[in-house]
Amino acid sequence: SQPHHELHVIFLPYPTPGHMNPMIDTARLFARHGVSVTIITTPANALPFQKAIDCDFTRGYHIRTQLVTFPAAEVGLPEGVENIKDSTSMELFYRIASGISKLKDQIKLLFQDLHPDCIVSDMCYPWTVESASELGIPRIFFYSSSYLSDCATHSILRHRPHEGLVSDTDKFTIPGFPHGIEMTRLQLPEWERITNEISGFFVPMFESESRSYGALYNSFDELESEYKQVHKSIVGIKSWSIGPVSAWVNKDDGPKVNRGQKEDLKEEPECLTWLNTKQDESVLYVSFGSLTRLSHAQLVELAHGLEHCGHNFIWVIRKKEGSENEDSFLQEFEEKMKESKKGFIIWNWAPQLLILNHPAIGGIVTHCGWNSILESLSAGLPMITWPMFAEQFYNERLLVDVLKVGVPVGVKENKFWASKDMAHVVGREEIAKAVVQLMEKEEGRETRRRARKLCDASKKTIEKGGDSYNNLMQLIDDLKSLKISKAHSRSR
Ligand code: UDP
Repeated sequence: SQPHHELHVIFLPYPTPGHMNPMIDTARLFARHGVSVTIITTPANALPFQKAIDCDFTRGYHIRTQLVTFPAAEVGLPEGVENIKDSTSMELFYRIASGISKLKDQIKLLFQDLHPDCIVSDMCYPWTVESASELGIPRIFFYSSSYLSDCATHSILRHRPHEGLVSDTDKFTIPGFPHGIEMTRLQLPEWERITNEISGFFVPMFESESRSYGALYNSFDELESEYKQVHKSIVGIKSWSIGPVSAWVNKDDGPKVNRGQKEDLKEEPECLTWLNTKQDESVLYVSFGSLTRLSHAQLVELAHGLEHCGHNFIWVIRKKEGSENEDSFLQEFEEKMKESKKGFIIWNWAPQLLILNHPAIGGIVTHCGWNSILESLSAGLPMITWPMFAEQFYNERLLVDVLKVGVPVGVKENKFWASKDMAHVVGREEIAKAVVQLMEKEEGRETRRRARKLCDASKKTIEKGGDSYNNLMQLIDDLKSLKISKAHSRSR
């Protein structure tokens, strides 16, 4: 139990790597700055982070995990399959998501038992607004993507500029934005395109943001100060940008842990040994994050594009159910790349932070997941942007139009929720062209220069006196004052 004067904050993450990683990093940062921290999650989701948390604890920081039981049998899943990262099909995805939604009562009981002073809740739990209000404490909305993308969602849900267009490919601008950001209906997140269970799942999350005490963003001022202002005017609540949290929490730690994996790295991973043989900035890292799985047609085009672009690459391929017929194609491709030493394939899961920070990496092909973007910029890397679903098309606009650190591969349509046979496949020529532009052309050099500048800014912002540093301190002070004034009004 906590000494009564100490600020106690509960963190409630959602179990996908894109949500867990930044929230655990943030929780660890709170603990390092004198806050007592409890992270509520399920056993299999705690495991990959437990070592780092225990290590912080033995150094004297007040941080611990509090476990709730995942109802595996109830949703027809084997024990231990609780992380959405483990889903190899939409069916599994929905079962895990449904299991997570059944944790509500267990979590609410814990809130009552633990007497927190604040709940930092992932966006995916809109009901924590009511829980916090019942306990008389602030609820902070934790958003694991960009300010720009959150503002775009709020603006579009309110003004609906995409309705009334003649065609799905007509361009429209997002209302209330300082830059004329253009989108088409086809590129909108699934929650803004379809009115069904998907928007029913997502829209309440964004609504809950406006009813929160404030919002926490893994961003920093040099990246998004303008959109932080837009956020204030559109969403109307306080927000704190405290990123990049992954660079911050790893700053003094020497070799980085193999985050998100159960096994710690015992020896240097093969991919790093392979990278050691390559020249500085000569290798592309190709990854589509933790959820995306490419169609067979797309895998084939990408393989050809990479083989013929003339640059070395590391490509992370996530396995999926029913992929037997593509295995032989990919195995042959892998063999060929081993022989030519041009490409290295990683099956399923890569030690991404270690790879991105290796000097041989010169750029990344990314699906525009926010964590991958921040991790790339923290390593000074320019990007080839290849958004897939959700808010990733908004993030692409930030990289390409606003920050100018991305070369678009030219994706026209959000496809995640569509059928397996993707109509739109990015062709090998388009892929090779984007690679050449980034790695060889003058324009690519400019892109790289800007990425490096943002990398420098990302280092300064987390130092004492930097913006993200100050924002975190301000938030903690703010919560402490709230706690004190609450105690006073109770004793009166
Ligand atoms: N990640 C990783 N290895 C992989 C794929 C992803 O370590 O092979 C990590 C990555 O570093 C990032 C997170 O998982 O922290 C993925 O988050 P992101 O927002 O980039 O994309 P999402 O998976 O949510 O689509």
